[in-house]
Amino acid sequence: ANVSKAAERMSLSGGQSHDMLPPFTAAWQYTDAQPLIITKSEGIYVYDREGNKYLDALAGLWCTALGGNEPRLVEAAMKQLQTLPYYQSFWNRTTEPALELSSQLINMFTASPMAKVFFTNSGSECNDTQVKLVWYYNNAMGRPNKKKFIARKKAYHGSTLISASLTGLTPLHGSFDLPVQWVLHTDTPHYWRNANPGESEEDFSTRLAESLEKLILQEGPDTIAAFIGEPVMGAGGVIPPPKGYWPKVQEVLKKYDILLIADEVVTAFGRLGTMFGSDLYEIKPDLVSLAKALSSAYMPIGAILMSQHLFDEIAAHSNKLGGFSHGFTYSGHPVACAVASECLKIYQERNIPQHVSQVAPAFQEGMREFYKYPFIGEIRGLGLIMAVEFVADRDTKAAFPTDWGVGTYFGSRTMAHGMLVRVSGDIIMMSPHLIITEGEVKELVSKFGAALEDLA
Ligand code: PLP
Repeated sequence: ANVSKAAERMSLSGGQSHDMLPPFTAAWQYTDAQPLIITKSEGIYVYDREGNKYLDALAGLWCTALGGNEPRLVEAAMKQLQTLPYYQSFWNRTTEPALELSSQLINMFTASPMAKVFFTNSGSECNDTQVKLVWYYNNAMGRPNKKKFIARKKAYHGSTLISASLTGLTPLHGSFDLPVQWVLHTDTPHYWRNANPGESEEDFSTRLAESLEKLILQEGPDTIAAFIGEPVMGAGGVIPPPKGYWPKVQEVLKKYDILLIADEVVTAFGRLGTMFGSDLYEIKPDLVSLAKALSSAYMPIGAILMSQHLFDEIAAHSNKLGGFSHGFTYSGHPVACAVASECLKIYQERNIPQHVSQVAPAFQEGMREFYKYPFIGEIRGLGLIMAVEFVADRDTKAAFPTDWGVGTYFGSRTMAHGMLVRVSGDIIMMSPHLIITEGEVKELVSKFGAALEDLA
C-alpha cells in the first residue's frame, strides 16, 4: 500500500505538491508548481517524463562534460562496483583507483608543481577543506594570526557554511547570517559593468590590484592567509578576467605572502579551451579545487591539489600539530575515483580542450550576432562558457524592473523551444557539454535566437 501511495504522490497531477525539499528553490515554487522531472539523457540532450527533448545548454550544472551516455564511464563504474564497491582512504589505507586518480591529476596539472591530492565529494567540501588546510599550514608554520580569507564579490565557491561565506553572492548570505567575519570580499573583475569611463582593461586591472592591496594593508598582511578565485567567475554571471588581472593580483599576493587557491570547479578539464583555467591565465596556484567535470558528474567527487612547496613545509612542521584530522567517509571513494580516472583518460585521448577550441568560435561568434537586440547589454564568455545580460538601456546599463521577470520569461521561452539554460535575474548562462559538435552549437544558437525573437 505504501508503494502505491508513493507512486500516487509521484504522479504530481493537478499542481499537487511533492515531498522533496529542492536546493536553491523558493517555497512557493515547490508547493505550487510542478518540477521539471528529467528521466533520460542522450549526448547533449535530456528528456522529461512527457518525452519532451531539451538541449541541455548548462550541461546539468556545468558538469556533464562528456554528455549523457558515455559507455566507458558506465563500464568503469560497473567494473569497480563488481570488484570493490567501497573501501575507505583514512589512516594510510586506500584503494587502487584513488591512487591512480591522484597520479593522473598530479601529472595533468602543470601550471605550478603539485605534490598531493586530497579527495572530497563536492566543490563545497573542497573549499571548506582548503580553509582547514591553510589554517593547519599557518598553525604549523607558527603564524596563528594569519587566518583571514579574501574572496571576491559575485564569486561562487559553494553552499556549506564556509564555502557559502567565501561565495560573494548575497542570496547565500542574507538568510543565514553569513559570511563569517574572517572572510573578506574584494572587487568583481567585471570590466563592462565596473570600469570607469575611458579606463582601459589594463588600467581597470591595476585599479583592482591596488584595491586588493589596500584591503590587505588595512587588515594587516600578517592576518591574511589566502585569496580564492575562479579563473573565470561562473555562477556569479560568467565573468572572464580583464587583461592583466591575474598577473597583477598574483604580484600583490606574493608581496604579502598570501596563498592563492584556484577554484577550478567549473573551469578545469577543457571548458576554456585549455586543460585548466590556470594554464590559460598563467595562474600559479598553491592549491586547486576540482569537482564537476572531474567525473563528468557520473559520480560525486571533488579533489584538492596541493603544491609541492606547501606540502614540503607541512611535512617539515606538522609533527608539532599531529595529523590532519579531516576527511570524509567517501573521500577517495573507489567507484567515483574509477569513473573520474576513466574520464580523465577520455579528456586526454580525445583532446577535449582542443575540441573546445575548435567549436568555440561557432558558439562565441554565433551568440555575439545577438547584439542586434538593443535589450542585450553584454554577451561575454570564452571557450564553452557564456552569459548574456539583458538591460533596459544599453548605454546606462540600467536593469529592467525586477518584477518584469525578463530573465524568467526568457527561460520559459527557451524551454518552449526545447532548450535548458540557467537564469539568474536577467543574466542567462550557458556551459554546454564539452563534446558538443559544431552542428549542435548552431542548433543551440538558433534556439537561443528563437527565444530572443519571442522577447523582442
Ligand atoms: N566552486 C565553484 C566555482 C562552483 O561553480 C561550484 C558549484 O557550482 C562549487 C564550488 C560548489 O560545488 P558543489 O556544488 O559541488 O559543492
